[in-house]
Amino acid sequence: MATIKATHRGNCQVCGRQHHVVGVTLAKHGYTVEYGYFNGTCRGSDKRPVQTDRTLTDDTVTGLGVYAAQRDADAEKLKAGDTHPTKIKTGEKFNTTTRRYEPVLIDFAAGTPMQQHDAVQAAIARAESDARHARAHAVSLKKMADELHGKPLVAIDDFRKAQDEARAAKRTTAVVDVKAATVAGTFGSKAARKAELDKITRKFEKEYDKIREVYLALPRDAEGHRVCTEQQTEVYYGCHYPHEFTAKRRAAVLEAFPQCADIVKELDTLVAARNAVKNAP
Ligand SMILES: [Zn+2]
Repeated sequence: MATIKATHRGNCQVCGRQHHVVGVTLAKHGYTVEYGYFNGTCRGSDKRPVQTDRTLTDDTVTGLGVYAAQRDADAEKLKAGDTHPTKIKTGEKFNTTTRRYEPVLIDFAAGTPMQQHDAVQAAIARAESDARHARAHAVSLKKMADELHGKPLVAIDDFRKAQDEARAAKRTTAVVDVKAATVAGTFGSKAARKAELDKITRKFEKEYDKIREVYLALPRDAEGHRVCTEQQTEVYYGCHYPHEFTAKRRAAVLEAFPQCADIVKELDTLVAARNAVKNAP
């Protein structure tokens, strides 16, 4: 049996990303951005690209609006005390088999008033975030359909050429080695340097979050108050950016959480990498 070879690419009506067109429909693809509305195989798989059909996009925009309104209503009900989450996350436990942190859950009724309050606040924040993301995606989908519907598909030859050009442009820009805190080459633009700094900041925040997890896992007393020192709380609310990780803050982290020395070492590496990127030509 002969397989049909894709010659063009088109944009998905649901996720908006560009994929190969096989025959007249898009190749199967997954959806990775998750905020409740999407998961698993993208509903735009095996459907026509937005260039030739926008029915599914318009339906999705409508569906996202309905979903956003539902999540807003969920947030209001939580705020009014009409509903509450069924479970409370009391911390995270490192699973040595999967090598991942996994949530520790208890029934809502079993939580202290403080834990119940925190869980409700977290559920409100999640519902509001889902609504915000759904609305933003609806706006960008509609904009994409307005721009691309009726336009020709992208020929794969042109797509490859564009990819090659992008790769060539990348070669002339600096290469950052975060572990060694070195930069080879020069940054071609302010944007290229900023992109690397942003990457380091994201890594920094992710690493620092591990300290926050240790804090959140501290036990609570009978009244529901977390058993911790003022310094531990300060460290929890502490740094979000590498430049905030001063010698004073670093010392405070080690004093408050001596078990986090390895994390501090990683943070040191990221601070050094940030300085290297800042000072590179
Ligand atoms: Zn898709």
